[in-house]
Amino acid sequence: MKQKIRKGILTYSALLFPLTFFFMSPYVIIMSAANGIINGSALFFGSLLLFSIIGSRLFCGWLCPGGAIQEQAAHSNSKAWNGKWKDKSKYIIWFFWLAFVLFLLISNRPLDVNFFNMFSLDNHIFVIYMIVVTLIYVFALATGKRGMCHSLCWMAPFMIIGEKCADFLHIPRFRLTAENQKCISCGRCNKQCPMSLDVVEMVKTNQMDSNECIDCLECADICPKQVIQFGITQK
Ligand code: SF4
Ligand code: SF4
Repeated sequence: MKQKIRKGILTYSALLFPLTFFFMSPYVIIMSAANGIINGSALFFGSLLLFSIIGSRLFCGWLCPGGAIQEQAAHSNSKAWNGKWKDKSKYIIWFFWLAFVLFLLISNRPLDVNFFNMFSLDNHIFVIYMIVVTLIYVFALATGKRGMCHSLCWMAPFMIIGEKCADFLHIPRFRLTAENQKCISCGRCNKQCPMSLDVVEMVKTNQMDSNECIDCLECADICPKQVIQFGITQK
């Protein structure tokens, strides 16, 4: 039942994407910063960082329209992506993108805040929407399960930083826990994980905190022995 609700929310989020993608766009942030404007996307990315201090990556697993598109692509390619740089490349892209945005903001002071900067509903928006959706879909088809989340996502580093801050400050946050003595190594959690994580290994070593875990709870729901639990706990 929980997973039906999750997939329903993700699908609805994908349907709303023509309206919401202005507020999740690294490109719109750059264009706004070039005019000395902090726009809705910048405020949204900042609020994701704050949310993740307690909510970890629940946004990725339950709300992200890009995640929804990729989970559709996984019906056609459900392989795990084992690229060497797959989890690292997003940090490199993110670092240079953020440095450029900060440079633009510093160069274009004084700054204004305009949540709706560049927001538009004219016809060309649907062309841009289709291009963005196609790129996400084709990338996930080519790379495998949630390939874009692993390698390109510009929002994931904000949330991973939020998680690290919470752990550093011993703030309780949403996380998985496991009773590994109950595990029968059936491997269902590995097969079900949309991020193709080695959940069996995570359980066996009692290392349930993975930067790449999106808190979708698929593994907890599929486990026949209820090995995997979740809740707001302190590290
Ligand atoms: S480890 Fe579990 S909660 Fe995390 S992404 Fe994989 S299936 Fe989802
Ligand atoms: S689904 Fe449960 S019992 Fe099976 S390997 Fe994963 S944690 Fe162990």
